[in-house]
Amino acid sequence: TIYNFGSINLDHLYQLDHFVRPGETMASNSYQCLLGGKGANQSVALAKAGADVKHVGAIHHSDQAVIDQLESLGVDTGLIKRIDVPTGHAIIQLTKEAENSIILYQGANHALTEEQVDQVLSQANAGDWVLLQNETNLIEYIMRKAQENKVKVAFNPAPMDAELTKKVLGFVDLLIVNEVEAMDLIGTTDIDSTIVAFPKAYPELAVLMTLGKAGVCYFTGKESDQENNYEGGLSVKAFSVEAVDTTAAGDTFIGFCLSSLMNGEDMTQAITRACAASAICVTRLGAASSIPTQDEVTAFLAK
Ligand code: ADP
Repeated sequence: TIYNFGSINLDHLYQLDHFVRPGETMASNSYQCLLGGKGANQSVALAKAGADVKHVGAIHHSDQAVIDQLESLGVDTGLIKRIDVPTGHAIIQLTKEAENSIILYQGANHALTEEQVDQVLSQANAGDWVLLQNETNLIEYIMRKAQENKVKVAFNPAPMDAELTKKVLGFVDLLIVNEVEAMDLIGTTDIDSTIVAFPKAYPELAVLMTLGKAGVCYFTGKESDQENNYEGGLSVKAFSVEAVDTTAAGDTFIGFCLSSLMNGEDMTQAITRACAASAICVTRLGAASSIPTQDEVTAFLAK
């Protein structure tokens, strides 16, 4: 089982000719309200990839539709609390160049309680995983409790808070970052030097770094990985596709990669499958709705 302590958002998506500039009022070419949040997206990706995923989080009482949608996509929602705080939401501007710009309102996503965390982790077993992003509260507490319960921790520190992330790295079994997050942790704005500096700065860590259309690299200082000859790092190219919306590319990658790893696949296989899934994702508009199924990924890889 993978317990995903993650955000659930309603995404308000506006397609625009360009991002709204200071002082500008602009009509949107279209509007949609979709299920999103990095947490929910990753739970959906995990479920679609065939993993046994329990989402842990909170939403407002009135948003039953969110629960229904997650359930219909295969996510176990039994650990989502219904509370008297607005459901988290996002205002997303999307341009023709497939760039996005996002305002987040955290709402119920920051209402996790220590009691809820204790209750959830007391039912976890050795071999289970906890997954976290940086869109909920109690990150450090959850990780500490996971470690106490011998549950592995995967952390996707997005949106990046470098101070918090550095503080909790000791609890993390697998760190998953994109280019911007990796550069923030190293403190540069250059990705090539970041790729060189990262394994030197964090030699103890297992790190998946996603590099957009350039693909993925993996570094590891974990002893359990040494026998697999990953010490020198691993690098996998992205698939070449026509991107229309990169929203949820990273979330899709994480869901498929973790699902494959939990299924006993090796890191190269897991990354390759996750790259295929996220390549399909970027060819479609939307967040959770653009995440492919296992069958679609298998068909893509067979091409
Ligand atoms: P995030 O969405 O967190 O910023 P990335 O942009 O690094 O994450 O994307 C995650 C993964 O999605 C990449 O490692 C790659 O496999 C895939 N991907 C992203 N953009 C593209 C693209 N334009 N073409 C093909 N694959 C892509």
